[in-house]
Amino acid sequence: MKVIDILGSSGKAFPSLEIVPPLRGITKDELLENIAPFMEFSPKYINVTSHRDEYEYIPREDGTFRKSMVRNRISETTVCSAIMDRYKIETVPHLICGGSTAEEIESKLDNLEFLGINNIVALRGDSITGEKRFVPTPGGYKYASELVEGIRRYQGSATYRRSHKIESQEDNPKYFCIGVGGYPEKHFEAANIETDILNLKKKVDAGADYIITQMFFNNQVYYDFVDRCRKAGITVPIIPGLKPLSTARQISLLPESFSLDIPFELTEEIRKAGSDKDAVYEIGTRWCIMQCKDLLQHSVPAIHFYTMGKSGNIVSILKECF
Ligand code: FAD
Repeated sequence: MKVIDILGSSGKAFPSLEIVPPLRGITKDELLENIAPFMEFSPKYINVTSHRDEYEYIPREDGTFRKSMVRNRISETTVCSAIMDRYKIETVPHLICGGSTAEEIESKLDNLEFLGINNIVALRGDSITGEKRFVPTPGGYKYASELVEGIRRYQGSATYRRSHKIESQEDNPKYFCIGVGGYPEKHFEAANIETDILNLKKKVDAGADYIITQMFFNNQVYYDFVDRCRKAGITVPIIPGLKPLSTARQISLLPESFSLDIPFELTEEIRKAGSDKDAVYEIGTRWCIMQCKDLLQHSVPAIHFYTMGKSGNIVSILKECF
């Protein structure tokens, strides 16, 4: 079932869970055991993030370096396939522009379709280590809006219609349901929030069905963002994204990585907890529960959790809120 149809038919808000594919070396059973605690809550689908291959430079004896590709993680498609096989639930792989040509992306779409996956989240992806800014792959896409356009164009193409035995454009359903990312505190590269929202609208105009937001720790930021989006003519569902803080270090890491604010009240509580790791974990979980309950009172369509593959705090939050 497509996420947009789940959003339309589900009477009440539901949790949407995002996991990161495991590093190589972890077995399929270990991965599935890690996410087993989520199954108690009958998730409607699970998102699986996508990661680019990185490069490392290995020194040669003559002082020069050899560039070598490092594949750190199992692919999102493989993880989706394992989850669907074991738990019989929908999966939503993320598809990124970075590292692929348009043709390679079309091939990925064919593979997803083959597996019966008809949901994706389309993203640009970030720069790889050593690059200051995102550099598009030659023959690939520069922005997520181009990726969304590319997916819709491919599904409308004569080659696609021929291989799928689709007679006319009218018989060609929008096969993939496409989610895209939105940034309540603006994307770190955007000059201002207004421009960023205009760019977000390009993704929706290109064919995106819904938006999932970057994490935030102050719900007012999300409510204001939704207002701005609606004023800009964006009418699709906007799913809020949450991540519970779990370590004191994240107070500096998250703002640096995601260009977001963490409220003073929360940082003060964590500062007072000092080196008590359990207390910090508990504070982060409680804060997220408070955010979650408030969002539910504001009739959000769903709440997306960035689980980072850790289930403990997320399970506590789900037990309390859903
Ligand atoms: P875009 O929408 O392309 O925007 C990138 C920047 O370009 C923005 O500043 C925007 O304002 C600007 N821009 C957009 N279009 C134009 C235009 N036409 N002209 C000029 N400027 C423009 N990363 C991963 O690597 N893997 C994942 O699985 C992943 N999952 C994510 C899930 C969610 C819900 C979110 C919110 C983010 C995720 N990310 C993931 C991170 C994401 O890839 C980065 O935030 C990336 O820097 C931007 O991706 P985007 O799709 O929002 O890019």
